[in-house]
Amino acid sequence: MKFDTAYSVSLDDKLSIYDVRELNFDETAAYDSDKDRFLCPNDACRAAFETGNVLGTYNAKNVNYQRTPHFKNTPSTEHIEGCRYASSHKPAAGESDDAREDNFPSEFVLTRRTYARITPVVDAEGQAPQAPAQTLSGRSPAAVSASDSTPDKTSVFAHPVECYVSNIDHKDKLKAMPLKIGEHSATYWAFFKKIEYLQDNHGLIYWGKIKAIKDYTSSFRIDFEKKVWLDKKPYSVNVYLSKKLIENYRKRKAFLEQIKAAASSERPLYCFFYGVTPALKQVPSKKNPEQTFGVFSANIENLDHLIIREVPMLE
Ligand SMILES: [Zn+2]
Repeated sequence: MKFDTAYSVSLDDKLSIYDVRELNFDETAAYDSDKDRFLCPNDACRAAFETGNVLGTYNAKNVNYQRTPHFKNTPSTEHIEGCRYASSHKPAAGESDDAREDNFPSEFVLTRRTYARITPVVDAEGQAPQAPAQTLSGRSPAAVSASDSTPDKTSVFAHPVECYVSNIDHKDKLKAMPLKIGEHSATYWAFFKKIEYLQDNHGLIYWGKIKAIKDYTSSFRIDFEKKVWLDKKPYSVNVYLSKKLIENYRKRKAFLEQIKAAASSERPLYCFFYGVTPALKQVPSKKNPEQTFGVFSANIENLDHLIIREVPMLE
């Protein structure tokens, strides 16, 4: 049995491993999972042991990862009889029984989850730098409460993306698993749309193999390998990420590490994004500025809803 969540001692709340990653990378939150303790999410089981009976984490801090992040039993973790998180066998070294994400959230919530016990990072002046208004002014009505977000809902984009990526060869499963985003309900299979078919529908999670990442003065541009066909003509697809957006991003360091590693990477990488749909635009030609050419393009508005990563099963 895999852990959908674990109980965090420092937050006194149940977190998914994606929440933990989110908190580790958030520069406005004073949180480090190495200093936290994670316990069995089963309340009765947890109550039966001391807080030293901890779980381990896997890929809680790696910005770029291939294998699915998860909580795991350590060799000394104990569970009460009947606890569904007790592992019935010890996996052999290298055994990939955790290679897939099995906990499919039924909803991807567009408002960030607030973590009640997180203290904002405070500078010498006693001011919290660029702390999100949502955290400081309390919970907005639309904010996700803890009971609202785990394990069935998530506000961390990496979670549904991991479900899709690690089960990409299980088409039937992806077609069977429901997913709701905003007002729209569909399946995982229907929500993830290859970039070359973006004209099929608006408001989906678009994804495709990256051809190149260009580092410009005020933005990064991600070019996709596949083209969109319109009226029997192929058009390039790209998305722009403004550097100003990145500078003000609470996960700035982790994001820059991700995109800079990607820009110079020789490995095949994929970009997933939600919230904007690239549209046909006419842009001036570099060689001859009086001429224009068509390209499908969009400006990313929310960095929380964009991921660059490997898709091991496609390579
Ligand atoms: Zn347990």
